[in-house]
Order: sequence, then structure tokens, then C-alpha cells
Amino acid sequence: FKARPWQLKEVDSVCGYCGNGCTVTLGVMDNKVQTIRFNDKTGVNDGNLCVRGRFGYSYVNSDERLKKPLVRKDGQLVEVSWQEAAEAVVEGFKKAKAEKGLGIISGARLTNEEFFLLKNLAKGFGTANLDHSGGECYKGLTEGFMETLGVSASLGTFPQVEQCDAILSIRSDFYETHPVFGMVVNQAVKRNDAHLTVLSDKKGKFTKLPHAKTLLAKPGTEVTVLNAMAQVLLAEGLAVTEGIEGVEALKTSLATCTPEKAEAITGVGAESIKAAARQLGAAKKAAILLAYGLPYTAQSKELAVAAANLALLTGVAGRSGSGLYLCGEKANSQGAVDLGILPQKGGLGVQEMLKQAAGENLSALYVVGEDPLTSYPNRSMVEAALSKVSFLVVQDLFLSPTAQQADVVLPAASFAEKDGTFTNAERRIQRVRPGIAPPGEAKTDFAIFEMLAARLGNQVSYTGPAAVFSDIVNNSPNYKGIEFSQIGPQGVVWGGEEFAPAHKRVVPVAAAQGLAAAYQLVTGSALYHSGTVSTRAQGPNAVVAEPYLELGREDAAALKVQEGDTLNVKGNGVELKLKAKIGTRLPKGVVFAPYHFASAGLNRLYQGETAVAVELSK
Ligand code: SF4
Repeated sequence: FKARPWQLKEVDSVCGYCGNGCTVTLGVMDNKVQTIRFNDKTGVNDGNLCVRGRFGYSYVNSDERLKKPLVRKDGQLVEVSWQEAAEAVVEGFKKAKAEKGLGIISGARLTNEEFFLLKNLAKGFGTANLDHSGGECYKGLTEGFMETLGVSASLGTFPQVEQCDAILSIRSDFYETHPVFGMVVNQAVKRNDAHLTVLSDKKGKFTKLPHAKTLLAKPGTEVTVLNAMAQVLLAEGLAVTEGIEGVEALKTSLATCTPEKAEAITGVGAESIKAAARQLGAAKKAAILLAYGLPYTAQSKELAVAAANLALLTGVAGRSGSGLYLCGEKANSQGAVDLGILPQKGGLGVQEMLKQAAGENLSALYVVGEDPLTSYPNRSMVEAALSKVSFLVVQDLFLSPTAQQADVVLPAASFAEKDGTFTNAERRIQRVRPGIAPPGEAKTDFAIFEMLAARLGNQVSYTGPAAVFSDIVNNSPNYKGIEFSQIGPQGVVWGGEEFAPAHKRVVPVAAAQGLAAAYQLVTGSALYHSGTVSTRAQGPNAVVAEPYLELGREDAAALKVQEGDTLNVKGNGVELKLKAKIGTRLPKGVVFAPYHFASAGLNRLYQGETAVAVELSK
């Protein structure tokens, strides 16, 4: 890149990667994003960006971007006009409706306005089968949070977490999933001496912070640790019980879930469980953090209930400056939920759509901004679903492995080419602005949905995102009163900075047992998310370049494995070869592989469980 800074056109927008929602300034020249830098200290990131946001944009300028619509003719995908492609899509979906129906699977990186149009389009195509990638996990979390708190969104804002004196991070390492939020937690720990408890099946970057205490639970047993913490608060009279329904029933159900019993199941020491519970109970301001997205689907409802019980018993839910944080993985995961990109009444969720498609009970799939073959669990079911539907439409930036199977491919736009809003994980609605035009004939999802709606005979046509936003405000109680033109550099947080639970009800949840196996494979994020765009960007690739299997030193010694050796990994009837990476963050018997590398085929082996029993050999 040779341009001088003053030669660049600067455009303020929002990072397109994760639910942190960092504000960015795009530096643009020759219709290419040449730089991304932080946006002069405005926004929730306060001048910080992580490696993905700062250096992970080169995929936007990639020569491999799709530039023309493609339609399959005589077995080959060939370039066609938009008119021909749109006609094929509308006719194909009409036919599907008359047969076994259509399912729509969306990514969580579309703008709120695009989600609104997509939901209307689903209605136009007569399908209730609509969901987004994190939908399955979100469904479980929502059920859990609605039962306990009556709301299913973060209760506070990220900056409030910096002032907390106790933080409990459950299952996710925010330094990986939401790195700039990870820095906020870091500040709370380093500047304000906050006590950080990390409850996870593996150590992470959080573990290394001063005062951080990691409760290393056997895979799938985090719920039991949370239950035991609730039991300690109730047994020691430390729990807030006033105004909370269901306390007696919870007490009875937890009577036997003592820290000692939990230790036997989870491997976390009884004294550590007691200390963590007491610390959280004594904090003046505390935060409980939970991430959601594709890799967190298993036990999501149970975890939500157990976390909410704890939030209620410690007073975290509803106390000023404290909060429970529900962090969606992708840039507009919260928007997908707010705008109802979830199964409509009687409709199917993502996994059920794929299952029905694999069983030839669904005629068509419309996949928008997702690459299920690469990133969804249970790859053989995804393969069957894609090959069994009679009509597959994929709308994306690249000819992904999923797009290669499609009957019609529609070339879409990246975040840097879009106008509208994203809503981040703390409910902050922010403006996304286009720095460049989409390459070739590619179009924004907004323009594609409008084109398909018009062809369907839908007369409503919008002048732009502001007009759609007014309709969102009229249709969504949470967005009521917000004006598009008023969304300034700090965004607008719907529901206010402190969002109160609608009710307070603790609910019993069964203790979870771990898996009995010599080796358990867990998966999750390693810098990337699903990898559909990040693995095409040079920045993240320089840090994590290839798939691997991580194992602890003790297991490596027992297996006589050295760093870089190839290991056979066998489980769920599938055998993979992965390079060994030896580290110190995994307990004996637990191994880890990041879920985003399609080439590794991990999603053949991993089918959505918390952990898979595997055999390892050299
Ligand atoms: Fe982008 Fe998330 Fe990194 Fe912020 S933390 S720069 S939103 S990827």
C-alpha cells in the first residue's frame, strides 16, 4: 500500500467481525479499503481494536470476491444477469413452497435493515422456517433467561464492567471471542483489583491475569459448578432472596449439590467453588459473562438458567452497575435476535431445517452469508441436506464450499460496502457506512432482498436504510423512539444503559455429568469465528495459520507426542489427522481443536456436543 494518509477518503463505520461493535475508520482509495484504524476515541472500544478488526480486512479487497450472479446449467455454475438469477430464485422458491417447503438460514453479519427485509421476504415466500447461525444456541439461552429473568439480552453495558469488583466469565474466553471486551475485563482486574473467576473446560488468556482464578471443570460440567455456587450462597445465608420467586424449590433441588459432591463430578475443588461463590455474593458491583454462537450450543438452556439463578441470588441482576452479559459471537448477532431472524411460529430452526432437508422433507434452502459446510457441526448431515434439496441458493462474498453446491449463487457485499445499523452485544445500535462499492455486479443484501421482493410482486420499496429503520421502530418495542438520524458516534443503547429484568424467578436445573472417556475433544474459537471471512484475511492468518489439535504436556508425554507430530484423532466413527500443539492450558484428558478450519474436517467429527470422546494415536 503506497497511498499517503491524506490521500485516503475516511469513512466512519463499525467493525464487521464480532459482537463487541468497535467503531472503526475505513481509509479508502481506488475503491479499496486501504487501512482500518480506530475511530478517534469514540465508541465502546475507546480507541482500541483487536487484530481481526485492525488487520483482518483484506478479504474485502480479495480478487476471489464473487462479481456476477451464477446459475447452474448442465451441471456447471455459469455467469448470468441479475434478472435471470432473480427469476430463477423466485420461481425455484415458489415451486418449493408448493412442494415440501423452503428453509432460510442467515448469517449474523447482515445489517438490522437487511434482517427486516429478509423477514418480510420469508413471509412473501410463505415460509416460517427462518433462523440464523447462532439461533440454536440462542434458543436455549432465551428459554433459560425468559423463565428466570423475563428478558434475553445483556443487562448492562461494557464500560460498566470496568467498574465491577467481581467478574465471572462462563465457558468463553473473551480475549478470543470479543478481544476488546477482554481488554475491559483486563482493566477491571489490573486497575480496580476486580476478582475474576473463569469457569471453563480449558485455561485461556484470562487465566493469566493477576487475581484471576480459573475453575477448570471437566467438559460439560460447568452447570454443576454454578449450581454448587448457588447452593453455597443459600446454605451460608449469603443469597439475596427478597422479591425472588422460587427460592424454596431451588433450595430443595440444590440440597445435595454441595461443593464436595460437585468436586467429584467436575474436578473443581470444593474450596474454590465456595470462595468463588462468596466473592461474587460479597461484591458491590459484579458481572456474569456468557457468550453464545455456533460453538456454544450444547447445554445452552441449562447454562442460562444456572447463570441467571446465580445472577439473581447475588443481586447481580437488577443492581445498578452490575449485570449479566449475553455476548453474541458475530457483528450483528444481537440484531438478528432483535429483528426476529429466528424460527417464526410453527417454523423450523437451523438444525431442524438441515435435518429435514437431509431427510428429503424440505425442497429448498436459501443460505445467506453462511458457509454451513465449513463451520456447522455434523458435516455429514449438512452435506446430505445440501445435496438432497432440489433447489439451493447461496448468497455470499465468495464461492465458498457451500456456494459450490448451489443452483444459484448471488454475489453479496461486505460490511465495508453497506449502509445501515448493527446492534452490538450490549444492545448498542450503531451506524455502518459504506466506504466502497461492491466489486463487479455484486450487490448489498439490502438490494438483493428488495429485488427479490419486487419480483415476487411486493409493492413496498424503501428509499434506503433510514426508511427501513423507521419501520423497525414501529414494529419492535425495544427500538421504539429511536431515530436513525440521531444515532451518533456513541450509538444508542436500546432499553437504556441499565436494563432491568422483567421478573425475578430462580428455577431448579439438573446437575450435568461429564463424559467418561480417556480423551475428550472440545472445540471453540481461536481468534477467528466460523472462519468464512477471517481465514481469507492476512492479519488473522499470520497469527493462526493452520488447523491443529492442542493437548496438555502430561497427555503429550504419555502419548510420546512432540510439537508438530501428526496425530490420528478418532471419534463419532470419524478419523482425522491433525498436527499436535502442546500447551499448558488443558487438563489431562482434554484436547482442543478450533472449529473454523474447513480443511481439517473437524465438523465431521464434532456434532454439536459439549465434548466428544476420542481416541488418540501417533
Ligand atoms: Fe472488531 Fe470485535 Fe475486534 Fe472490536 S473486538 S475490533 S468488533 S473483532
